[in-house]
Amino acid sequence: GWASPTTAHTSQDVLMGGLLVPGFDERKCISRYNSASYRKNTERSPCPHLINRLRAQEALQRRCGPGTEAYRRAADRLMISRRNGTDDNDDSDCKYLVLVPYRGLGNRMLAMASAFLYAILTGRALLVDKGESSLADLFCEPFPETTWLLPPDFPIRNLEALTGEVPESYRKLVQSDRPDTSVSDFPYVFVDLDHACTYHDKLFYCDDDRHFLHRAPWLLMRTDGYFAPALFLNPAYQDELDRLFPRKDSVFYLLAHYLLHPTNKVWGFITRFYDSYLKDSDERLGIQVRVFDGDTPFKHILDQITACTSQEHLLPEVLPQEPPPSFPSPVAAAAGKRSKAVLMTGLNSWYYENIRSKYWQSATASGEVVSVHQPSHEEHQVSGNTTHDMKALAEMYLLSMADAVVASGWSTFGYVGHGLGGLTPWVMFKPENMTAPDPPCRRAASMEPCLHGPPFYDCRAKRGADTGKLVPHVRHCEDMSWGLKLV
Ligand code: GDP
Repeated sequence: GWASPTTAHTSQDVLMGGLLVPGFDERKCISRYNSASYRKNTERSPCPHLINRLRAQEALQRRCGPGTEAYRRAADRLMISRRNGTDDNDDSDCKYLVLVPYRGLGNRMLAMASAFLYAILTGRALLVDKGESSLADLFCEPFPETTWLLPPDFPIRNLEALTGEVPESYRKLVQSDRPDTSVSDFPYVFVDLDHACTYHDKLFYCDDDRHFLHRAPWLLMRTDGYFAPALFLNPAYQDELDRLFPRKDSVFYLLAHYLLHPTNKVWGFITRFYDSYLKDSDERLGIQVRVFDGDTPFKHILDQITACTSQEHLLPEVLPQEPPPSFPSPVAAAAGKRSKAVLMTGLNSWYYENIRSKYWQSATASGEVVSVHQPSHEEHQVSGNTTHDMKALAEMYLLSMADAVVASGWSTFGYVGHGLGGLTPWVMFKPENMTAPDPPCRRAASMEPCLHGPPFYDCRAKRGADTGKLVPHVRHCEDMSWGLKLV
């Protein structure tokens, strides 16, 4: 069993073993200190070195963040389009990483967690471009007494339009003869880590910051994925990452719980649903349905969900006929049947309707009571709609509050759901040719998200390699054979 939200918690629990800093106004962001009491798996705590680095990063964000003299000077220098000579005698110790997250919300959350890790490793202040999106309506400020949102008057406009083709790109720099001198010609360097980026863009994953990137006061980065596994392959960061994360299977869990706290509005969505439909059951199973072949219902996907939950004994079988009155005995029934709440998420409600009907129209062989719930069915993915994004965030968070999760392969939405929950998921393989795969699903090796656009290059040997075989804790993903994940 696990502590119910009403159990009194020590401040260690509330602060997640020192991951979170005390002293924020609790009313402004209720989830920050309250969410730990809703989670089952809280055994992954941060080590003292990570805690120290987080406190140092908070100090850096405060010293360099928007509104400070250091920020103003650094932003002013960006306006001078091309500088003459190097800026090595610049006395400011503030360097910045501006993240341009994009695509769906799951993608953006993975991007934010990975960029934060890179900012810690390289001593940069992290600023996030909110673009068209509703970031401030979704997430609380993570750092005390400063903001992580890129100010609207940031001198470089149209960040979303930057590509690896611009002269300031990392791609062009590494293709030049002397990247170390070229870097000083530009007020910023742009790193394109789109899943479709090129070989030269991906050399960034082998970059030793000390070589030349440290000279760039501004690093602008566009990414839609979880690139932490690639950082663990870089010899320049391996020692430090070992110290930060003695366990490699909960890197996203810790980073995301440090950084991504739902706003009060979203927390209301989360807790009202949880308290109404999930709280009182003996067990909770999350089933995340993400279909990449279209938004209409598919029979083979329903078959896959049913086959997976049946084979893995996650949901009980149903009886073909009404059970005789003695089954289970009235005494046992009165003693209390076990109850299981199923939280389903998806754009479509058809899968949910079917599974709910199944447990309404037939009794379970085990005598368990199964209730099935789905918070929303938005029908289509949309972008730039705040309420749509709030629902998506609330549902990823609700998945994280389950005791077990079945997730659709390839989906960053699912990665965030089980990753936040500290839950090693059952991954449903992506169907090919409109048929349910066999086996339908498999227990993953870890709760970590998968990097979809990994490097195929060995930084040490300086040649192409199978990057899933270089270190023991970076492996190929269950759901994407070329992807990489931490285990
Ligand atoms: P991915 O495309 O599965 O990797 O996940 P993303 O979160 O990056 O993008 C999918 C987007 O579609 C989400 O952010 C939502 O906007 C929407 N979406 C997909 N599945 C769901 C769901 O189960 N519930 C809700 N509310 N929205 C969803």
